[in-house]
Amino acid sequence: MANCSSCSAPLPQGSIRCEYCGGLNDTDLKGVHYYTTHENESERICPRCTISLKTIDLNINGRFLIERCDECLGLFFDPNELETLLEATVSNVFTIDRSQLDNINSTGKAGDYPVSYIKCPVCSTIMNRINFGIKSGVIVDRCKEHGVWLDGGELRHLFEWMKAGGKLLQQEREEQRKHSEEREQEREKRKLLTQPAAGGGYSDDTSFDLFGGSLRNSDPDLFDIVKGAIRFFTKE
Ligand SMILES: [Zn+2]
Ligand SMILES: [Zn+2]
Ligand SMILES: [Zn+2]
Repeated sequence: MANCSSCSAPLPQGSIRCEYCGGLNDTDLKGVHYYTTHENESERICPRCTISLKTIDLNINGRFLIERCDECLGLFFDPNELETLLEATVSNVFTIDRSQLDNINSTGKAGDYPVSYIKCPVCSTIMNRINFGIKSGVIVDRCKEHGVWLDGGELRHLFEWMKAGGKLLQQEREEQRKHSEEREQEREKRKLLTQPAAGGGYSDDTSFDLFGGSLRNSDPDLFDIVKGAIRFFTKE
């Protein structure tokens, strides 16, 4: 658990605001990344405080600019910047700590803000709330076009998620999904190949049906096989 940098009181779970002295704690960047202010006032607006965001340079592989609010310590990332930052900050993770991930997942939901929809700092349209990764416990606000907003404390939480192997777990799940999809496709393929034979061979009607069905779009290989078979039958 983190402690307040001003009065050393323990910070509430998932919060950066100290209950004792009221101070905000920069748990995201302090001691993690050194940054310099690149631009004191950007045109982008904090969705929490409606003041101008500052552009800061995190100096990751050269210039790495993101926006930050001095008041609430929220951060805004252009598309893909957050992923780049996470990978640059936390690397060499080779194991998935499942119990730690469960822990992270359950503590992330508590935040400093009630559930609400906030505006994109760039275009002011209401952003979508989406779960970041699997079991991160962090719900980010995202504008599909302009990027992702993180409230203060959420970046630190995502670093912890990376360290516990959250990214690996996500990759594992994606592999599993791909495999089961492939198996399902195989099953479908076999079903279609065996069906006409069971019905006593092709008639003109059934071969025509095969052209019209979903076969053509979903499975070009099988479609070619069937087309070949039909050509063979029509030659006779
Ligand atoms: Zn304090
Ligand atoms: Zn703010
Ligand atoms: Zn936008």
